[in-house]
Amino acid sequence: MKIGICGAGVGGLSAAIGLLALGHDVNVFERAPDIRTTGAGFNLWPNAGRAIYGLGIREPYEDISVQLDRYIELDTEGNELFSTDTSGWPEKYGAAAVGLYRPDLARMLSDATGLENIKFEHDIVSVESLDDKAICHFSNGVCYEADVIIGADGINSKVREQLIGGVTFYPNELYAYRFRSVIDLNDVDIDPAAQTGFYAKEGWLSFIPIGKGKAYWFGSVSGADTFEDFIDFFSSWTKSPIPKVLGSTPRELLVQSPLQDVDGVPYRWTHGRITLMGDAAHPMMPDMAQGASQTFVDAIALRDAFANNDNPDEALVEYETKRREVANAVVKCSQKGLFLGKHNVDPLAIRYQNEIETLDT
Ligand SMILES: Cc1cc2nc3c(=O)[nH]c(=O)nc-3n(C[C@H](O)[C@H](O)[C@H](O)COP(=O)(O)OP(=O)(O)OC[C@H]3O[C@@H](n4cnc5c(N)ncnc54)[C@H](O)[C@@H]3O)c2cc1C
Repeated sequence: MKIGICGAGVGGLSAAIGLLALGHDVNVFERAPDIRTTGAGFNLWPNAGRAIYGLGIREPYEDISVQLDRYIELDTEGNELFSTDTSGWPEKYGAAAVGLYRPDLARMLSDATGLENIKFEHDIVSVESLDDKAICHFSNGVCYEADVIIGADGINSKVREQLIGGVTFYPNELYAYRFRSVIDLNDVDIDPAAQTGFYAKEGWLSFIPIGKGKAYWFGSVSGADTFEDFIDFFSSWTKSPIPKVLGSTPRELLVQSPLQDVDGVPYRWTHGRITLMGDAAHPMMPDMAQGASQTFVDAIALRDAFANNDNPDEALVEYETKRREVANAVVKCSQKGLFLGKHNVDPLAIRYQNEIETLDT
């Protein structure tokens, strides 16, 4: 079968790996000139690990990731609010929760896909579905015809916009920005095998080890619109490592991105021979840290559906039936907010076990 995938992000590449392994003729189209080399840390859960193992890339995944054996939440004074041991998760859930460096993940996925299967500088402008084929048009004039097109072009998906309209963004009621950076693990006194978060009602910051002696921190503060505001907020948290870490983070290594709520779960993913996956299919808030994990689960579901069905229409029905309701349930979880946030939900490690592992993900 000829399959075109729009977008060479987490979803597009992981779907390509699974579909290429089935022997399909797969092309991935990406508007950027190369594989993503930017980004900081990333946190993936056992449901992502299981999907990644299923795609046959367990070894490189374990090489680039650090198993998280504990989740620890502390208050501003460094007193423990919550901790749980997750070292048994590989036996319990079939894979570990991990931290990793995002560019390493992009490289791992592009190596497994094969650069010869990725067409860079192809910016999708429109898609159309005919009776037994789908067509993709690019801004460079190229037109690609396939049996199936998969829209894996992210949260601002052009494919989705054309099929059902775009998502709606609106300001987050608590935090306008998320700040993040990568640091040397040696420079901070935290457990090197744990996600460690420091929390107050007005702001929080969390550390995740990501391998090669590095850790990733990320956090948000109510009312902090600049890095200076952000540093200022934590300046009195002297019993935590945060003031020292922020003081030594070079500005050029700092990433500040707007934190927006997002609305717009599609009522349908598949339209004729075109379907959606990843953020295009289930745009969600970052608070459950499930965006990429759900995307890997989409990829394995696509692989299974195309392995089980020679007929593309039947494969697409099986894929969407398996995934849409479950992914929508995860989107709902992601809208409940953060530990000690407005709704004071449980710590993430508990929510993962109670709200995500209990779904078929
Ligand atoms: C700062 C940040 C931190 C995050 N941290 C985590 C985390 O720790 N854990 C987690 O699970 N999730 C995390 N997420 C969410 C996660 O990144 C996404 O859920 C995941 O990347 C979705 O994969 P995707 O393939 O759908 O989209 P993307 O990975 O965004 O890939 C989309 C691709 O499509 C390409 N594209 C877009 N438009 C076009 C076009 N018109 N033509 C051609 N190509 C196009 C883009 O260039 C990109 O390569 C984070 C997100 C952000 C922004």
